[in-house]
Amino acid sequence: MSFKSFNLSPQMIDCLARQGYLSPSSIQTRVIPKALRGGNIVAQSETGSGKTHAFLIPIIENLQLDKNLTQAIIIAPTRELAKQIYSFAEPFKKDYPRLHLRLFVAGQEKERTFREGMLVPHIIIGTPTRLKAMLIDKTSLDISNVKTLVLDEADMLMEMGYFAEIDIFYRALKMTPQVLVFSATMEFNLRKRLEKYVGADFVIEMDDVKTART
Ligand code: AMP
Repeated sequence: MSFKSFNLSPQMIDCLARQGYLSPSSIQTRVIPKALRGGNIVAQSETGSGKTHAFLIPIIENLQLDKNLTQAIIIAPTRELAKQIYSFAEPFKKDYPRLHLRLFVAGQEKERTFREGMLVPHIIIGTPTRLKAMLIDKTSLDISNVKTLVLDEADMLMEMGYFAEIDIFYRALKMTPQVLVFSATMEFNLRKRLEKYVGADFVIEMDDVKTART
């Protein structure tokens, strides 16, 4: 199987090839086609399965880069995880020079509030606490054009008690977003929590191979 079978743009295929990604991992095969069509997704997959690219690829493919608007938000439970997602997204900038990303985590220069003349990020990656702080400070974050929301490591987000913050965030969105959820485990309590965002009859996309590089 090649990335070409997903009907991705030649620009994306070249970008992935340049990063050494020629064929999709199992979770990417399950998630990318559905995510490109705008569907909600709940996926059970471990770190190392290629799950980050399973959401980055369709998000970047569907961005309107000529619009100076924040179109996707990726929420991760810890600063380290958010930074890792950011580091996987950064190499796309080489092929997408107009792409702007912003990391919102504590203790980072990059989390500072927007200064005048600063470019609006197309994609925001951050932890719930920092994102909520940015939301309260209304001058710093305009989420009225966000069309995709990613909850990464959703089981950890729940364990750390972050769903209260996520609820505030979700309610603040102007449009009903596409929601992409990734989690290593998928216990009952988490499924119940997710219904609010993805509907009650969701299918869980399962990863059949554990690592992307096997
Ligand atoms: P994850 O933590 O699940 O996002 O997995 C990240 C690791 O998977 C990184 O080392 C990526 O470089 C690698 N990866 C992502 N997609 C692919 C792919 N299609 N083929 C090979 N490796 C990949």
